[in-house]
Parts: sequence; C-alpha cells; structure tokens
Amino acid sequence: MAIVKKCSHCGSILAEQYKFCTNCGSPDLQIEYVDENGLPETPPVGTVLNGQTVNSQSSGTHAAPEVKPAENVIAGTVGALLFGLLGAGIYFILYQLNIIAGVCGLVTFVLANFGYGLFSGNRQGSTLGVVISFIVMLVMIALAQYLCISYVVYDALKAEYDINFFDAVKATPEFLKDPEIKEPVMGDLVFAYIFGIIATVSAIFTNRKNKKAK
Ligand SMILES: [Zn+2]
Repeated sequence: MAIVKKCSHCGSILAEQYKFCTNCGSPDLQIEYVDENGLPETPPVGTVLNGQTVNSQSSGTHAAPEVKPAENVIAGTVGALLFGLLGAGIYFILYQLNIIAGVCGLVTFVLANFGYGLFSGNRQGSTLGVVISFIVMLVMIALAQYLCISYVVYDALKAEYDINFFDAVKATPEFLKDPEIKEPVMGDLVFAYIFGIIATVSAIFTNRKNKKAK
C-alpha cells in the first residue's frame, strides 16, 4: 500500500511530497491509498484521511458514509406490540397481587423496545423504535388498567348477578363514570406512565451514547 496525492482539479496523480499539482498548479490535493498496481485501496480502519476517520472496510479511498442497519418498521411494530402485551399481562397480575403495578410502565416500555429491536432487525436501538415503543407502552398500560377495573367489577358482581368477565369488560365504562372509581384509576395510570417516561428518556440517552461510541 502506498500513499499518493490526487489533484481535485485535473485528476493528476502525484507523489506524496507534492503540495501543488505539477500539471495545473492547483493546491487542492486529496490523499489516496493505492496498491502496487496504482489502483485505489482501502486504507486501514482508523486512518485519518482528508480530515475524516476511516471507520469501515469499504471500496474507494474516501471515508464511506456510515451504513445503517436495515430496519423493518412494520415487523418491529409487531414485535413491540407482542412484547408490550406481555408487559400488560405482568401489570394485570401485579395489580391483582396488590404489588406496585406502576413499575410495569417501565417494564412494558423496555419489553416493547426489545421486541421492536428483535423483530425489526435493528438491535442497535432506533429513534423510531423508541417512539413506537412509547406509544405501545401508553396503549398497553391503559388496556391493562382497564382490564384490571373490569376484573374488580367482575369479582364484585359475579356472585350476585351471574355475569362473566366479558360482561364486566363491557360494563367497565359505566363504572369509570363514577369519580370514586375513576380518580384512583387515573392516579394509577399516571404513576405507571411516569415509570414509562423514565424508561423512554433513558432509552433515548442510551441510543445517543451508542451512536457517539461508533
Ligand atoms: Zn491538477
């Protein structure tokens, strides 16, 4: 491997020591790496070439633009929904057990973001993935909270009225009109969302760090 200079103006190839083009006099010379046949060659990774650090093995001598991993957004969204549903299930169970279900805001986001990465093929973390996972978290926690109330309704009324869980799900909006039920439900929801937002913000910072590290 040898270093030569190529004139940006006329394209002449010059020896490394030249500061001006011997053909046209232009001072605008680009450093090029060539092999023994004078053909362009990829410089070693980490080489600073024309002010840019070479960070990948690719053809040509100029630092290639960073290749983004392919990302299937639709598959990623399906993954986020599937894993988000798991978070909703955990929320439902913790709620029944009287354990702080709010942490599932965080758990659901993390699961959804993981599901997005797994299904989209981009596991390095993507901004779009974070946004989709955040929306999935909002929807899944609201769904889980709704079903928790349905279950409370079902449990309270099943002996007296012979209803099934699905009847309770349908009747839940009526019960949510009662401020005494609605207010604590909203409180639980906000609590879970705070955890979800914490997870989202931390994912954004993690993604940025990963990008800078590259
Ligand atoms: Zn020239």
